[in-house]
Amino acid sequence: MTNVTRDFFIGLSNNHFLNAQAKKWGFVLGADKFVAGTTVQSVVEAVKSLNEKGISCTLDNLGEFVSDKQEATEAKNQIIHILEAIHSQQLDCHLSVKLTQLGLDIDQSYCIENMKEILDTAAAYNIFVNIDMEDYTHYEQTLEVLEVLRERYDNVGTVIQSYLYRAQEDMDKLKDVRIRLVKGAYKEGEDVAYPNKQDIDLNFIRLAKQRLLGNTFTSIATHDHHIIEELKTFVAENAISTDVFEFQMLYGFRNDMQDKLAEEGYNFCTYIPFGDDWFGYFMRRLAERPQNLNLVMKDALYTEDNKLKKGPVIAGGAIAAASALAIWRRKNKDKVSS
Ligand SMILES: Cc1cc2nc3c(=O)[nH]c(=O)nc-3n(C[C@H](O)[C@H](O)[C@H](O)COP(=O)(O)OP(=O)(O)OC[C@H]3O[C@@H](n4cnc5c(N)ncnc54)[C@H](O)[C@@H]3O)c2cc1C
Repeated sequence: MTNVTRDFFIGLSNNHFLNAQAKKWGFVLGADKFVAGTTVQSVVEAVKSLNEKGISCTLDNLGEFVSDKQEATEAKNQIIHILEAIHSQQLDCHLSVKLTQLGLDIDQSYCIENMKEILDTAAAYNIFVNIDMEDYTHYEQTLEVLEVLRERYDNVGTVIQSYLYRAQEDMDKLKDVRIRLVKGAYKEGEDVAYPNKQDIDLNFIRLAKQRLLGNTFTSIATHDHHIIEELKTFVAENAISTDVFEFQMLYGFRNDMQDKLAEEGYNFCTYIPFGDDWFGYFMRRLAERPQNLNLVMKDALYTEDNKLKKGPVIAGGAIAAASALAIWRRKNKDKVSS
């Protein structure tokens, strides 16, 4: 994918106006292919049907970049509600959270207090909580929060992004902590992250192999079949127990491969996002792979009786307006600087 296309969708994912509007639209542009619903009940049903196939899940109550304490408290309460549902319905499921949803941008100690409440409930139910890694501006803070939480809880871990030059160093520091290894989804500068996809992939494979040779549990999160095949061979050649790792993929992506890996006997976990704050998440998925747009567009634009849906038209209009504004701003900036 060209960097321009990737930057375009990442830019949209950070657009506060569109994120706020999208909550009002409900699911449009086929977002329901990748987001399991807006209510706890709908997501519980999605988890149950995956559990029946031997697939475990991790739930993400969508939302990020919260700047209001009331919103962060509501998110924390909702997450505790989800933990109660996981426990009462005996789901094979853990939780993924974003610290900016729980007040990291407001006040770090307030965010830690929210996390403590979540982790107290999770520990009582023996549920693991993973802290998603967000963009690099939140990186240091996320590791600091994790360090504080690890003093009291062992049911919490985080994510290592192989696009970061410092991934190896941080992985070494977290050698006793359960982590999820990913390539990295945000737009980062060349000062902190490999600009080249091949380097990111090679780093991912190198880090995954190192973790697999250790004893601490690792979630290998990728849709990349080349990498998955290489790691399966590595596991077999080194007689690595399948108990020390799982493969993870996002809900709605490569469903056949998800089922097949579970059938082959690998631990498999599907990351299921849900809630009405879907826009940023969805745009990052389009940034990774514009083909995802083809996948959803066919039944996204038209109703069953062949009428154009209202939501996508408004969404499309808003996206076009945002793009035009971004281009206009860039042109004007160029004029000023040239
Ligand atoms: C479970 C999970 C959790 C994540 N959590 C985080 C997080 O906390 N922080 C973060 O920064 N990022 C996170 N990510 C996103 C991640 O960083 C990558 O941006 C994303 O996974 C894309 O990289 P990839 O390795 O899956 O595939 P890519 O590098 O995008 O693709 C590699 C190759 O795989 C194949 N492929 C990929 N996707 C598909 C598809 N849908 N259909 C067919 N072929 C495909 C294609 O051949 C493609 O060329 C997470 C990803 C997953 C799966």
